[in-house]
Amino acid sequence: MSQPISDTYAQQLQQMRADLIAQIRAQRGGKIGRAESALDPHDIQSGDWSQVDGERDLAQALDERETAALRAIDEALQRIANGTFGLCTDCGAEIPTARLHAAPTAQRCIGCQTRYERDHPGATPSL
Ligand SMILES: [Zn+2]
Repeated sequence: MSQPISDTYAQQLQQMRADLIAQIRAQRGGKIGRAESALDPHDIQSGDWSQVDGERDLAQALDERETAALRAIDEALQRIANGTFGLCTDCGAEIPTARLHAAPTAQRCIGCQTRYERDHPGATPSL
């Protein structure tokens, strides 16, 4: 892949990363505030943990999904840096431009991705 094209993807990925972090910050702002107020010592003494557990589970779920999304972006940027961006990580074939355009974090060609998702039913689908 030529340098100007991968530069475009790098910019797109950096933008996705910035947007995602801004989104996480915005969501965490409210969530952390509520979780912290729920953890007020007075509430703990009163023994009411029902709210706290719900908030924690929600925050945890978001964490995993968002962490996976961030990791996918970082891995794509890493592939740009080492020159393997746009090549399937499984078979080494070039990933079609249309697929990369729709999902710059795609790391497999469609054939390998389909096989991967079939072999790993619980895996996070490609972003
Ligand atoms: Zn492949």
